Amino acid sequence: MQTQPTASHFINGAYVEDTNGTPIDVIYPATGEKIATVYAATAEIIDQALSAARAAQAAWGAMTGTERGRILRRAADIMRERNHDLSVLETYDTGKPYQETSVADATSGADALEYFGGIAAGLTGEHIQLGEDWVYTRREPLGVCVGIGAWNYPTQIACWKGAPALACGNSIVFKPSETTPLCALKVAEILHEAGLPAGLYNVVQGMGEVGAALVTDPRVDKVSLTGSVPTGRKVYAAAAEGIKHVTMELGGKSPMIVFEDADIENAISGAILGNFYSSGQVCSNGTRVFVHTDIKEAFLSRLAERLGTAVIGDPMDPATSFGPMVSKRQLDIALGYIEKGKAEGARLVYGGNEIEGDGFYLQPTVFADVTDDMSIAREEIFGPVMSVLDFTDEDDVMARANDTEFGLAAGVFTRDLARAHRVAAKFEAGTCYINTYNDAPVEAPFGGMKNSGVGRENSKAAIEHYSQLKSVYVRMGDLEAPF
Ligand code: NAD
Repeated sequence: MQTQPTASHFINGAYVEDTNGTPIDVIYPATGEKIATVYAATAEIIDQALSAARAAQAAWGAMTGTERGRILRRAADIMRERNHDLSVLETYDTGKPYQETSVADATSGADALEYFGGIAAGLTGEHIQLGEDWVYTRREPLGVCVGIGAWNYPTQIACWKGAPALACGNSIVFKPSETTPLCALKVAEILHEAGLPAGLYNVVQGMGEVGAALVTDPRVDKVSLTGSVPTGRKVYAAAAEGIKHVTMELGGKSPMIVFEDADIENAISGAILGNFYSSGQVCSNGTRVFVHTDIKEAFLSRLAERLGTAVIGDPMDPATSFGPMVSKRQLDIALGYIEKGKAEGARLVYGGNEIEGDGFYLQPTVFADVTDDMSIAREEIFGPVMSVLDFTDEDDVMARANDTEFGLAAGVFTRDLARAHRVAAKFEAGTCYINTYNDAPVEAPFGGMKNSGVGRENSKAAIEHYSQLKSVYVRMGDLEAPF
């Protein structure tokens, strides 16, 4: 594959190899074939990356925001020019169809670089007048950031963390998921090609231990994790030990409520986007679909009809709209939940089977008559398994929608304007959708409430999580003291 990175790590502006680390095979999910091997970072590689990040940060933080922003925006342009190659690599890394990767991954990464590149010049403190005296605030970088990624959006996650970190004058060491290690290396390569000084964006590979070593290192000032709630607990606790800043983008089991007056075609589109895009491997998915009993059967039969038109197959074929799951492990987790769904009494109305072959393909799967206590309604599956639950009353469905440890996203489909906003206000979730689902533009804050996370990515809100304020008190006259 022509577009592959040339070594495991990217440190201090260059590819670095160290075959002493544990080998990690990179598997193409559509065929099960090994397409690359990277090596987990040894203690020496971790040290090199953190030292480079520490050494480079001060000069970068001292540059003007305009200068920093220009480099990020140039990187965004290069990403867009290479969208095809980057999308092919993303498809190899994740198995997601090219139909998706060509519009949702490098493009989303480029949006983040462009957005934060654009606002870097406008980052300011404020002036606070206190009579004759005054205070001014300086918005300063945090220092060295560590980013740790999940495997579902490797390019996007590398950019969503890197772009605001760099815009604010920080350096970053990014550890991709061991399942999808390739794309972040290309992000590092492009940033440096765009003029980023060496040492500011480093990539090291490895499993959880490498992430843990980064989080606990005293040279690190901030940790941003995208991952599951159990990993979030560990990383948050380790960061707390060093009183480090954190952003936690964790899991979800988000509700989507379809009222009886909803436009059914739109609601089904939302349910498809919120359950089957990326083969269901999206953190904000609306996997608990509450459908009013008046329209339940119409909803289910039309949903089945539309699922029948999914084009399942070779992810590189631009016609393919549904690809494999990322790994055998993830496929087995989803299959396990399908068995639990059946055993706990849910009605399987679509799919439910692995698709025979070498790749990790699972049919889009829908359960109806799901009740709130079932495992498939309570636990994050992270696969193409939709649960449809019945409801009749708004207050009742709101209470049930919010009865979860998670709070990442939520959606409502209705034509009643007042109800839509009333429901959105009551959702205990960081990102809510009215008559749409899973949009994630860089201009809007993204993140979770409750166990789904801490902090926000994207938008101006991310600036608060990658910079800190210093207050400077200025006295104009003499200073009085008690003695
Ligand atoms: P995971 O929690 O298994 O791993 C996430 C990352 O953490 C990986 O890079 C892993 O190597 C690393 N890690 C594991 N243990 C660690 C430790 N002790 N210290 C430091 N790092 C450690 O998650 P995953 O299976 O890669 O991804 C799926 C999960 O991510 C799902 O729960 C999904 O909802 C969540 N996710 C959330 C968002 C979001 O923005 N909220 C986006 C995508 C995925």
